[in-house]
Order: sequence, then C-alpha cells, then structure tokens
Amino acid sequence: MFLRVDKLQIELPPPMRQDPNAASALQELLGGKYGEMSTLGNYLFQSFNFRSKSKLKPFYSLVAAITAEELGHVELVSNGVAMLANGPDEPDRDVAGPDDISDAPYETMKDARLAAAFFSHGGGAVPVDSNGLSWNKDFVTTTGNVIFDLLHNFHLECGARLHKLRVYESLTDPTGREVCGYLLVRGSVHAHAYALALKKITGVEIEKMLPTPNIPLGNIPECQKYLAEGSHRCLYTFSPEDYREIAGVWGNGEMALPDDPPGELEVVEGMPDGGKIHELVGEPCAFTPDYAPEEMFEIAEKLYKKSR
Ligand code: MN
Ligand code: MN
Repeated sequence: MFLRVDKLQIELPPPMRQDPNAASALQELLGGKYGEMSTLGNYLFQSFNFRSKSKLKPFYSLVAAITAEELGHVELVSNGVAMLANGPDEPDRDVAGPDDISDAPYETMKDARLAAAFFSHGGGAVPVDSNGLSWNKDFVTTTGNVIFDLLHNFHLECGARLHKLRVYESLTDPTGREVCGYLLVRGSVHAHAYALALKKITGVEIEKMLPTPNIPLGNIPECQKYLAEGSHRCLYTFSPEDYREIAGVWGNGEMALPDDPPGELEVVEGMPDGGKIHELVGEPCAFTPDYAPEEMFEIAEKLYKKSR
C-alpha cells in the first residue's frame, strides 16, 4: 500500500521568469529513457514481481523502499516543470481574468518547444520527454532474475545521472537547477545502494565505478547543502515500520564514496522532512481553474469551513 503526504521532498526556489523551454528541458528528467518515470516504473514492477520476498528480504526491501522515493521524485520534477512553465507568482492573477483573448495573449506559446504543455495541459507536466515523446513501458525491465534486475537498476541510476548533469548544464533558472542538484545527490545514493547490493550477492566491488559520469557531487553548487546535511549517506525506508532490512545492505560498516564528505552510511526510518509545495496560481489565458474562478473559490471555502 502507499501513504501520501502533501509535501515535496524539498522546497523548490521560485522561478525568476516564465521559461517554457526550460520546462521542456526538465521534462527529460521526467519522461526520458532514464527519467523518474523510468526509475519509478522499474522498481515498482520489480518489487511487485519479486520472488522469495521473505528469503531475500534485504534486497526486496531495497527495491521497495526506493520505489516510494522515486514516486516523490516524479512529483518533484513535475512541480519544477510547472513552475518554470508558469513563471513567478503574480498574486491574484487567478481572479484577474484573462487578457483580451482576441489579442493573442498566447502568441509566444506557439513557438514553445512543447506547445502542447500549454494547449493541452494548461502549463502542467505530463510523462513525456524533452521533445514530447511519451514515456512508455518499454523503459521497464523486470526479468525476475535478481542480479540482472539490480544490475539494470545500477545502469539506470548512472544513466539518470548522465541526464541530470546534461540538463543541469542547460539551465540558468534556480528552480530547475535545484531539482537537478537534489536528484543528483539522491541518484548517487541509489546507484551506490544497488552497487552494494550486487557486491553482497556476487562479491564484485562495482561501487568502485562510481561516480559515473566521473564528476564529484561537490563540484555542483546546488548539491553542496545536501552533502553538508549528509543526504548522500542516508537511505530512507519510506514506511512507518517496514523495509528496515535495507540496513543489511546500506550500513553495516559501509562508508560514503571517496569523493563525498566522509561518514558511515545510515538508514533513516520514514521519510525526509520535506518542504512545502509551491502554490501555482491560476492561468487565466488557459482558463485554469476556469474563466471566472471567484465562485469556485467561494464554494471551496464554504466546504473547507464545514469540514473543520
Ligand atoms: Mn529518482
Ligand atoms: Mn533513483
């Protein structure tokens, strides 16, 4: 089962300006081959299909716990995409009403790379890559062979790192850069965790290949505060009481990677503290929430008061 918490894993800084093409670049981290939809889809179905769950508990729990974190990454990237597509908050924009629609208020959107993000999705995110190609189930590998699946996951996390570094290099806005910085730290943890799992089973010290690509996290300014907090050493169970067995893989005297701030790896029960979800204001030109929202806000407020 899943439990939902109305927070993001981190609080994102607001965008400096509306930048639909930066939002499109970030879509690669959502619906690209190595995007968050792919890590989520792989671990989700591998954990469902896992055989001998109780006999292989530390390995099953590892895939299951990381699944929940990846769902939160899908949420984080989606929020970043929408924030960049929509730009800085303009208080009360949602009740101001649209500009004169006969005056082509969306003229610039016809030149945006993912025009459908506005025409179909009102400035929101969907599971497509930076060119609008749909994410699809062919990105999911679930073979039933534990070693092969873990090796695939290791490859997937290194691929995700490649994606994130390249997207990071294309962005100037703080919102998109923060998404990349945080996910680079967390992806490093996942690559490291799958490497250690493979080492426990096979004896091969695959973690010596890390980091791949070979750029230390400390070189990226947006990663530094997460390194200082020790995020690179923490793996969360994402459950009130389950999946504690991951400590057999992550911990057990294993240390941080040589380029990162030193220390022992630790399992954190539960989830990160998280941050607030950025409040996206309405987009009058896209009729979201609708052309005249005042009545809807009034109805919602009455319902909220009744529920208290
Ligand atoms: Mn992820
Ligand atoms: Mn990951």
